[in-house]
Amino acid sequence: MMTIKLLSFIFVTLFYSCTKVPVSIEPNTKTMALIEKSRALQLRGDKVEESLLKKKDSIEVLEVGKMGQSKGEGFINILEMSDDFVLDMRYATSNNFLKEKVYDCAQCYVRKEVANALIGANKDLIKKGYKIKLFDCYRPYSVQKKMWKIFPNPGYVADPKGGSIHNKGAAVDITLVKMDGSPVDMGTDFDHFGKEAHHAYSKLSKDVIGHRKLLRETMKAHGFSTIRTEWWHYNFKSTIRYRISDFRWKCG
Ligand SMILES: [Zn+2]
Repeated sequence: MMTIKLLSFIFVTLFYSCTKVPVSIEPNTKTMALIEKSRALQLRGDKVEESLLKKKDSIEVLEVGKMGQSKGEGFINILEMSDDFVLDMRYATSNNFLKEKVYDCAQCYVRKEVANALIGANKDLIKKGYKIKLFDCYRPYSVQKKMWKIFPNPGYVADPKGGSIHNKGAAVDITLVKMDGSPVDMGTDFDHFGKEAHHAYSKLSKDVIGHRKLLRETMKAHGFSTIRTEWWHYNFKSTIRYRISDFRWKCG
């Protein structure tokens, strides 16, 4: 009898200890906040994916030698329009941050109106005893992918998923040189990825600040805009929505 009582006592105790554990069905504030956050992230992820798909659709993949967009919006070799520029196409050599040659040969192609704006800026600079040296111009989309493969870091190379303005033929990487082609001190080399290359960085000599300002103001007066982190990079503000292209220029 005692054993039965003892056993039922143990059973009842165990039963209650198992069932009476307080279980909260309502999530607390912290859980709710987490749920909200993950919903927001999911939504953001969907939107990013959507915009990437749209961008992907707008990629204009052209055959070798074809220059794309109609009505005078195609590409032009800048040297065919002016011989006042100095070319130092770094990606056609291994003297760049990738330490690899990614262009078959050195050519500077841009959209026609970008070329006209660059020529205008160069004319203004020539009056002041300087001219533009070009480091990079239009960059074929397939080269962008190649660069991303070598250096997949969005701080240094634009992810080919979104593309770069260079892939549209509407961005240039440039510096100033003197009329005889000799270098002008800009504070850092091209593709120096550090705060010293930022437009707002002020711990530089008066000369360097003056050179950067001259280039910036001249370029802005001809329709170009800057990016915060690279003194050499200029985007042309066009009313035309240029598409990412994969036109490849002929070599030799
Ligand atoms: Zn650039």
